[in-house]
Parts: sequence; C-alpha cells; structure tokens
Amino acid sequence: MSNNSRIESGKRIVVKIGSTLLVDQEHGTVHRKWLDTLGADIAACIKRGQEVIVVSSGAIAIGRRHLGLPLGELKLDDNQAAAATGMVRLAHAYEEVLGGFDLTVAQVLLTLEDTENRRRYINARNTLEALLRLGAVPLINENDTVATDEIRFGDNDRLAARVAAMISADVLVLLSDIDGLYTADPRTDSDATIIPEVKEITPQIEAMAGAAPQGDSKGGMVTKLAAAKVCLANGCRMAITDGRDMHPLKRLEDGAATWFLPSATPKTARKRWISGALRPAGSVVLDDGAVQALGAGKSLLPAGIVTVEGDFQRGDAVIVKTGDGRELGRGLVAYSAEDAKRIIGYKTSEIESLLGYRGRDEMIHRDDLVLD
Ligand code: GLU
Repeated sequence: MSNNSRIESGKRIVVKIGSTLLVDQEHGTVHRKWLDTLGADIAACIKRGQEVIVVSSGAIAIGRRHLGLPLGELKLDDNQAAAATGMVRLAHAYEEVLGGFDLTVAQVLLTLEDTENRRRYINARNTLEALLRLGAVPLINENDTVATDEIRFGDNDRLAARVAAMISADVLVLLSDIDGLYTADPRTDSDATIIPEVKEITPQIEAMAGAAPQGDSKGGMVTKLAAAKVCLANGCRMAITDGRDMHPLKRLEDGAATWFLPSATPKTARKRWISGALRPAGSVVLDDGAVQALGAGKSLLPAGIVTVEGDFQRGDAVIVKTGDGRELGRGLVAYSAEDAKRIIGYKTSEIESLLGYRGRDEMIHRDDLVLD
C-alpha cells in the first residue's frame, strides 16, 4: 500500500458515515456501541494532529422510526419531519460520544445552494474553517427539513465530496457497507474482485458501479463515483471502505478499501483552478512594496493596492498587476470592488471602521494567489 492510500497521512479528513452503519436495525435508534468506537477513532486522529470533519447520514432513518412512519418511500413532508426529528437525536448522540473524548461537536446543516452560490459557499467555508481553528468537530448533514427534491443533494456521498473540496481537505473516507469498488457487483457475481487504487474515472470504471441498494441508504456506487470525480478534480484522496465493524477508521489503516488517488494536492488543484478556469472579473494594481511582498510569498493587503478596476464581487478571480500594467498573476479577492475602493491604501486594522464590519485581513490571501 503506497503512502498515498493511507488515512494516517491526511491533514484534514472528512469522514462520511452512511445510514446503515448508524442505525441499530433492531431498535431503530442510534447504534451507540459502534458510534462509541468511531468516536475513539476520531479522537485518535485528532490526537495525532489531524483535523476531522464528520458528514453523517441517518437523520431520516432514525426520525422515521421514532415517528412510526411506514417503510418505503416517504412523502416529502414526512421525509422532512423525519429529518427534523432524527437530526436532533443524531446530533445528541455525537455530542455525547465525542464529548466523552473532550471534543466539541458543532452542527452544520447545508443545502445544495450553500455549495453552489458563491456568497453562501464562502460563508459556509469560513464557518467550517473557524470551527476547525477553534478545535471543534463539525458535524454536517444536508438540511433535509428545508430541501425539496429539486434542490437537494439527496445523498451524502456527493455532499461530503463538495464539503471536502470546499475546505481543501486532503482525505475523504466514505464509510459504507461495502469494502470498495468491485470489478462487478459482488452480490451477484462471485468472480468480482476489489480494485485497490483508481487514478481516473474511466467509462470502464463507471460501468462497474451497478445499481443503487435498497433500504435506508440513499447512495450507492454511482453517487460514490460522482463523489470520487469531485475529489479527483480537487486534489483530495478518497477511500470507500466497509465501516460496519467496530473501530472503522482504525480498521482502514490496514483494511480493504478502494482509494481514489488524484495527481495533484488540494493546494495545487486549487491554484490550477484559479489560474486556468476562471474569467477574471477585474484587476487590482499594486504599489512597489506590495509587488515585492508578493514575490516573497506574502498575501496581498489592502494597504499595498493603488487602484482597482472592474466590477468584481467577493470571491471573484482578478488579475494582479504592477503600476506599469505588467501582469503578475491572478487571485481570488476577499472584498467586492465597491468595498475594496473604500479600504485600499489603508491599514488592515482600519478595515472594520471603514466598512462597518470585520472581514478578512488580506485582500487576496496567499493561498488564493497564483503568480505567473
Ligand atoms: N441526509 C440524509 C439523512 O440524514 C441521508 C442521505 C444519504 O443517505 O446519503 O437521513
């Protein structure tokens, strides 16, 4: 097993937990014994310096049983009621389990829009970054109570991959009830073998996905491959592994899994995306001091900007130029053109009084900057 296909080498790990693992099938409540061992594994990761973000399914599965709703496909409003009922129980269980390891759990419910609309995307990302900085473990699920069919992910595999991309995680683990991607469906084909490593999602790989399972889980191999595509494009390694046994993350250290391995790291993938795919929405012109600071690997502060051009919004890509019009590179701005005009030339400590709110210290953070 290469070093790349190891959970121990991750810095920021997103762990997605499928409904079937979490729900005690007999009682329809949280499978507490199993969750205790997952909690211990998460605590062990954090102890060795890794950051962990949990994306958990199970709200609907637990809520529907608690409310006594029938098996099978639910009507939208019943589904939403089940999610509302189940989520509070799910969060409570995580809070108790991780609290036992002195870890703080912070619930974040996201919708598809939060990962697609730029403003909301930036807000969600900043919230998650703040939680990690403060040492909390974000517990994420889709906000099923407000999401209707047309505007929802529906499955947490893809949600988890979007979250991983959003916060530049370098590992996503999908804890499932199957230990990886097989050459054919192992339930029907006894010759099927597991594929340990995948570097590209070819049509051949896609053909191996098969049909979605029955029961509580909304995903299947198809949504897992969709998640893998997002991960590969964003420089995040992804594992599919069987999480049903106790200590599922510990088991992944030497257990069977399929690892999807991108060619880039999250940082290089992000920089490639900034320099390549985006049409610049404007530009910022720097003074000589700022040109030098950027060359030395620093971020761009408002104080070093002489003028801004174009009508860009927060999060847009802009061209970074010298006073004589030479292009230095590109970056994503932390302020809109309108706000930028009010703070350029000023010290970072003055931003709050100039704008009436406290935004980022930098106009372009060095992680969001690519020099030519
Ligand atoms: N968000 C759903 C829930 O918490 C689960 C979706 C899925 O199974 O992927 O019940």
